[in-house]
Formats: sequence, C-alpha cells, structure tokens
Amino acid sequence: METSTTYRLLDGTECGMAVRSRIASATAEVLKARGRAPHLAAVLVGEDPASQTYVGSKVKACEEVGFRSTLLRRPATTTEEDLLALVDQLNNDSTVDGFIVQLPLPKHINEERITLAIAPGKDVDGFHPQNLGRMMLGLPGYLPATPNGIVELLRHYEVPTEGKHCVVVGRSNIVGTPMAILMSRNAYPGNCTVTIAHSRTRDLPAITHQADILIVAIGKPNFITADMVKEGAVVVDVGIHRVEDASRKRGYRICGDVEFERVAPKCAWITPVPGGVGPMTVTSLLLNTLKAARS
Ligand code: NDP
Repeated sequence: METSTTYRLLDGTECGMAVRSRIASATAEVLKARGRAPHLAAVLVGEDPASQTYVGSKVKACEEVGFRSTLLRRPATTTEEDLLALVDQLNNDSTVDGFIVQLPLPKHINEERITLAIAPGKDVDGFHPQNLGRMMLGLPGYLPATPNGIVELLRHYEVPTEGKHCVVVGRSNIVGTPMAILMSRNAYPGNCTVTIAHSRTRDLPAITHQADILIVAIGKPNFITADMVKEGAVVVDVGIHRVEDASRKRGYRICGDVEFERVAPKCAWITPVPGGVGPMTVTSLLLNTLKAARS
C-alpha cells in the first residue's frame, strides 16, 4: 500500500494567527500615524447562512487586529440600483479604506455590475478587473483573497514550489484562474509549471496524479480521492461544505473537496478543512485592508 503517513498540516489557523499578529502591530503604527485605524466595510445582502458566517468571521477578525469594521445589511429584496447607490456611497466615504460585497448576491442582482462599480482602490477582495489585470502583469494592487491566502500559507511553511508541477482544479475568476497565475509567476511561492483542470478536462485522475502541488477548488464534497493523488504531493483544499452526519450533535460536519482521511497519508503537506484555506482567506482580506489604509 502506498502511504507516507508522515504528512504535515498546512494549518491556516496557526499561520493566520502569525500573520494577524504582524497585522496588529502594523495597525498600531497606522493608528499612530493617521489617528484612525484601518476601516473595512462589509455589505451583506439577504440571509444566506453561509454568507452570514463568512461575513461574521471577517468582522470578528477585524476586531481582533484592531481594525474598525462596519457591517451593512440589506434585505434580499434590495434592488440592483439600491446596491449600486450603496457601493457609490462607500467609494466616496473617506473614512472607509476598503470594502467587500459578500457573494453570492440574490439572482435579480448582476454580480458583475456590482463588482465593476467598486472603486479598484477600495476593492480589498481583489475581484475588480483592474486588480486582476494588475496581478496578471505583476503590478502592485489587491490580490484576490483566497489565492493570496494560499500563497501566504505555502510561504509560511516554506513549501518548495520552484520547478514543481502545480495542478489547479477549478477555473473560477475568484479562485482557480488567479491561483494558476500566482503559482506560475516568477516569484516565491511560484515558478511552478501549471496545469488548469475543469469540468471539461478529460481523464482528470491522470492529470491530478501528475501534481507535485494539487490545489482543488471545485465545490464538490470529497471529490478528490486517494487514487487521484501522487505519493508525496502537497494538497491544498479550497472547498468547504456542510455534509449531513447523524453521528454529530449538530447533525452535520464540515468537509472539503478532498477526501482528507484517505488522501492525507499520501501527502507531504495537506490543508485541513476546516482550519486550512478558510482562515487564510480572511487573513488575506485583512492584509489588503491594511494595504489600503497605508496607501
Ligand atoms: P465555482 O463553482 O465558481 O467553480 C468551480 C470550478 O470547478 C469550475 O471551474 C468548474 O469547471 C470546476 N469543476 C466543477 N466540477 C468539476 C469536475 N467534475 N471536474 C473538474 N472540474 C470541475 O467555485 P469557486 O471557485 O468559487 O469555489 C470552489 C469551492 O471553494 C467551493 O466549495 C467554495 O465554497 C469554496 N471556497 C472556499 C473559500 C475559502 O475561503 N475556503 C473561498 C472561496 C471559495 P467549469 O468552469 O468547467 O464549470
């Protein structure tokens, strides 16, 4: 049986705490220099439970590092025009350094229109085409939170990346595609030879099996199984799902896109879910907000 059994965890909680402690020190300096702390505003439309949890953890993280945060809630019936007006207001509010509009939005609102309306200088999620374009060109800007959080995680644990074959499964604009760009750039972490796989990829297991570094952002619970992973691989699991589990008091458990129990023993490094990529996404948002406050 192929097993290394000595896998190490890419622990997003631990890494996030280390980075957040540096952010807290920098926050104190910003406060001293400007007389006010970095300020993140978050817009939450509707009552989606997952979105409420994500926004809640972002607001809490702001408090922990000494940022000011403002949560702006709007009902699911909010119109696109009302939301655009709110975005405009935040763009012009000089007390707000950066803001996010939590996705997904209700179906009647065009997410692309909202994303495009956010001033690139306040787009701390890094979703605006101007920030994505700057990332492509290696220019300063705001990097998308999840891929940048993964880069920070690999850096923290000094995972070697140069010359490695990195397979990214998923090509969304906010995770898979920017992730592939960051892993291929001439930097550390980076300098990988990158393959992007998606739902039209033929023989996915043959591709994932070639990965020295496998980054999975598919959105399907336990999709990546042990037979799809090479011995000694580094596996980063972006997925986060609630699956029913009658043995748990709360009736569900959290899992990722990777079948952790079976895959982990084959890995050199692997992210847990929860406690891997999730905390790093939030940390990355804090880094972008700090950058906005300093600019
Ligand atoms: P999307 O649904 O936007 O993208 C999913 C991608 O996976 C698509 O490119 C799709 O291909 C591809 N895909 C779907 N099925 C398959 C398959 N059978 N084989 C190969 N590729 C497939 O998701 P996101 O990128 O936004 O998010 C992915 C996951 O990560 C979700 O579970 C999400 O909840 C989670 N997430 C977690 C975050 C965190 O902080 N932990 C942050 C952001 C997301 P195609 O393009 O062909 O449709």
